[in-house]
Amino acid sequence: MRPYLLLTPGPLTTTETVKGTMMSDWCTWDKDYNEGIVEVIRRGLVDMASSRPEEYTAVLMQGSGTFCVEAALGSVVGADDHLLVAANGAYGKRMGVIADYYKLNCRMMKFDETVAVSPEAVSKYLDEHGEVTHVAVVHCETTTGVLNPLDEIARVVKAHGKTLIVDAMSSFGGVPIDMASLGIDILISSANKCIQGVPGFGFVIARRALLEKCKGVARSLSLDLYDQWETMEKGHGKWRFTSPTHVVRAFMQAMNELDEEGGVRARHARYCENHRVLVEGMRSLGYNTLLPDEWQSPVITSFYYPSAGFDFAAFYQALKAKGFVIYPGKISQADTFRIGSIGDVCPDDFRRLVEAVGEL
Ligand SMILES: *Cc1c(COP(=O)(O)O)cnc(C)c1O
Repeated sequence: MRPYLLLTPGPLTTTETVKGTMMSDWCTWDKDYNEGIVEVIRRGLVDMASSRPEEYTAVLMQGSGTFCVEAALGSVVGADDHLLVAANGAYGKRMGVIADYYKLNCRMMKFDETVAVSPEAVSKYLDEHGEVTHVAVVHCETTTGVLNPLDEIARVVKAHGKTLIVDAMSSFGGVPIDMASLGIDILISSANKCIQGVPGFGFVIARRALLEKCKGVARSLSLDLYDQWETMEKGHGKWRFTSPTHVVRAFMQAMNELDEEGGVRARHARYCENHRVLVEGMRSLGYNTLLPDEWQSPVITSFYYPSAGFDFAAFYQALKAKGFVIYPGKISQADTFRIGSIGDVCPDDFRRLVEAVGEL
């Protein structure tokens, strides 16, 4: 069931036990599924996300992570609101594309892909633009692996009294985040990233008092976050339309395994160690990282091509034959490839990877 390890930003390598739970069928509107699985997940997500769980609520949504980003922006930012997106990579830019589709009042604040979003620049912009109502930012920009300084960005946004929307797709569950203490209003992530489930749905964790005011804002039926939430609340775990039952059951198992590992802090420590072994090993072979260490997340790492004539396609195939699947780069200004350190992978896997790269 594991032809190779996925060292990618998702879908990830998952455990046999997570995959094994998908071998049974569930009824999408039966209590065993709604209350025994969906509601358990919703409560678990809120407990994981916030030290004050009573102030927050979780909505699950069919589709990949982008569906949830779109559902959140399209259901929370109203026609008279003004959105500021601080972007330093493809996922930040994608939020701008969604805003365009929905004809939101949106300003993009673009940073270079190789630097972190600057809280000072966001602060200055907010000082000068009182019309802004919402600020959206990506926590870990998976494009490069930059971990944006969420604490400081949140402090600035909250000091200006704005609503804060965070795409924490590739960090939630693998990097500690407390929505309550940071004042985050909306957080978005998906099943197949750091919680180590399989792909098929995403989720939005929202400040309850804010979501309650979003009735009728959505411009899309399928992606109406409020309506999906209301149905889940009133129906105790009911989805509006067919839910990915097997995937949801697997996600509950993945959440249990995260607990057994010791929670988000323990998982973060494993990812950090994976990343340390990877970077030390690759540097010892002469590979350089794109980012300075201060901005680097433990989630995914970009490496420069080692030489001008480097054949990435051949490198990729040779590593795949040795049991490792890596990822191409995603930026225009430099030739890079990426290696993810999240999923059911451990430091020994990265020792073997470095050995395999050394043999090529
Ligand atoms: C994975 C990811 C997404 C969602 O991508 P999908 O392909 O729609 O699942 C969004 N933002 C970030 C930062 C991501 O890493």
